[in-house]
Amino acid sequence: MSKFKEREIELKKNGIPPETDEDFVFNLSLRPRNLSDFVGQKDIVSSLKIAIEAAKKRSEPLEHILLSGPPGLGKTSLAYCIAHELSSKVMATSGPAIERAGDLIGILTNLERGDILFIDEIHRLSKVVEEFLYPAMENFQIDFVIDKGPYAKSIKFNLKPFTLIGATTREGLLSAPLRGRFGLFFHFDFYSEEDLTLVIERSAKILEVKIDRPSALEIAKRARGTPRIANRLLRRVRDYSQVKEKGKIETSTVEKALSFLKIDERGLGELDRKYLKVLIEIYKGGPAGVEALSASLGEEQDTLIDIIEPYLLKIGFVKRSPRGRIATELAYRHLGIPYDKEVQQKLF
Ligand code: ADP
Repeated sequence: MSKFKEREIELKKNGIPPETDEDFVFNLSLRPRNLSDFVGQKDIVSSLKIAIEAAKKRSEPLEHILLSGPPGLGKTSLAYCIAHELSSKVMATSGPAIERAGDLIGILTNLERGDILFIDEIHRLSKVVEEFLYPAMENFQIDFVIDKGPYAKSIKFNLKPFTLIGATTREGLLSAPLRGRFGLFFHFDFYSEEDLTLVIERSAKILEVKIDRPSALEIAKRARGTPRIANRLLRRVRDYSQVKEKGKIETSTVEKALSFLKIDERGLGELDRKYLKVLIEIYKGGPAGVEALSASLGEEQDTLIDIIEPYLLKIGFVKRSPRGRIATELAYRHLGIPYDKEVQQKLF
């Protein structure tokens, strides 16, 4: 699924109109510039700092890095922060954008020593492109064939040493040979409310929006552990307060603005609630396969797997079993549906 599609679905789900060009620019302006601006993910940042320092000391490019985790957690931002720390340039592309191996030749041959090649959604590279990438990652060489038929010749081309940073929302879909060519692996987890509060306060400062700590915390609680959502909610709350409350942001403004957007106190939007309702009411709490849920909801499986389920699993509203997804007592309670422990336990 493309990043734009992901964003559009995420926005639709939260009852917010799809991202405009202005939103896109806004996100860029809020992107952390260097590692000290990067909030949270402490373990990742400290391991990276050591790897960067060591690579600098050896005057070698950094090893190839794989970043994985749900959308909006800062994988792209981190790639740019790494480039900033190394004072190198970034060439950014994505798996679905590279249709043929030929598309990669121009990109790779233009990289300077120490540059970063960022490939988003790397799990979506085609097999042919992936295989073309192997020698480039391993020996900084590419082989390409010129001419056809009996005159075809394979030519080796030396590249300048570079660092590939791959980002993926589905680490499990990466082939073993591609995985094996990365040297550093970092998995992003959802952010704590405290870290999201810091993200919101930082963004508010850049946007010159006045917001106190309790209001920032209130937005953080409903941002599904995701900085991109936190920033978006901040912007919606700011719009709401400018129109309805003369620009003042208090916790009551946040509550009113977010309930206007149909985002509940756990940060769940309409599609999250619909997912839980279908699982509970149609599938009696589960287990239900993702194919069945996707058919009942009329939503793509990718949307459920990449966007809806990770957070519901994280907050313990859903469990995954070999037979499918199961709604937990917490989910029943959240929706106000009675939970019969005995009946539920007999089902599994
Ligand atoms: P991903 O690539 O994982 O989908 P992005 O890097 O595009 O996520 O992050 C989305 C937005 O969230 C960024 O534009 C940035 O404003 C914000 N963001 C993400 N991570 C952080 C962070 N650690 N600190 C501050 N802001 C962040």
